[in-house]
Amino acid sequence: MKEIYSADAARYDDSQALYRRCGRSGVMLPKISLGFWHNFGGADPYERSRAITHYAFDHGITHFDLANNYGPPYGSAEETMGNLMKDDFGPFRDELFISTKAGYDMWQGPYGNWGSRKYLFASLDQSLRRMNLDYVDLFYSHRYDPETPLEETLQALVDIVKSGKALYIGISRWPLEALKAADQYLKARDVPLLIYQGRLNLLDREPQTEGIPDYCADNGIGFISFSPLAQGLLTDRYLHGIPEGSRMAHARFLKSDKLTPELIAYLQRLNSIATTRNETLAEMALAWILNQKGITSVLVGASSTSQLEKNMKCVHAEPFSDSEI
Ligand code: NDP
Repeated sequence: MKEIYSADAARYDDSQALYRRCGRSGVMLPKISLGFWHNFGGADPYERSRAITHYAFDHGITHFDLANNYGPPYGSAEETMGNLMKDDFGPFRDELFISTKAGYDMWQGPYGNWGSRKYLFASLDQSLRRMNLDYVDLFYSHRYDPETPLEETLQALVDIVKSGKALYIGISRWPLEALKAADQYLKARDVPLLIYQGRLNLLDREPQTEGIPDYCADNGIGFISFSPLAQGLLTDRYLHGIPEGSRMAHARFLKSDKLTPELIAYLQRLNSIATTRNETLAEMALAWILNQKGITSVLVGASSTSQLEKNMKCVHAEPFSDSEI
């Protein structure tokens, strides 16, 4: 018989330090949110996924981020979320902020990818069924579609909110000009853009170079950074090579040729700065992001509760800035 989950009564004791307002909205998000891209699929042990989410929720992490195609196989991370809703989180639905996305390939044929109204509506319906939810808190366009008219994608997002299937709208990986157009379009229809999801970390500053977090900050839109640890590179995991069981050892999304001698040297330098600050590299790397203009939250992944436990320390870390590198 499954152990019955009872959430920690002290889970909001650190609220002051943990939550930030998302743009100019009414929503507070935890500075650390939990992503389901890896470690929550059908191929991963359910009890481990369960333990990680329990640890998260017990420590005030109220935001779980998914997408239709997280797994593997596609859809299975959402099925895990659905099982978690049945087994553990049903009584806590109103304390959770759950997001999902559509935009990448999900099913065969012309309607299972990109940004058409047809795809977005069908995908969200499927996601809700897999997750055992009546609505998601946040629905994202997962990527910009250069072929579909912007108005079609945006109007679909507006109508999804009006249908009650999502409370808020976000976009991920859209270029700045499209972000600006989306912001105007959605504001004019009283469904303001809640948040932008982009990859910002100490190794990848493209959104900043493009001006995206600045635009978000100046226009009341939140920004959440995905892969804030560069998939594990900004931790002590790869300082001395590629350990067994790591994402680089087995996943196709983090290739070993990325780990050049120059990168290892840079990571070691960052690690020694972290040591002088009495922090782990991961903690310092997350603190750097949280100290940048316009950032609401860092969206971490974890393959164990102990990783999450370590990473959560960044909430109390001293701000870390570029002048220290
Ligand atoms: P991270 O950069 O946080 O990488 C997480 C991985 O780093 C873990 O799975 C683990 O890998 C390793 N790690 C984490 N903490 C530690 C630690 N303290 N010590 C050692 N190793 C550690 O994030 P992800 O790349 O997983 O992305 C996070 C989320 O962002 C996703 O789940 C998803 O929700 C979102 N995302 C969105 C995208 C988009 O297009 N919008 C694209 C990509 C992600 P290991 O397996 O080696 O233990």
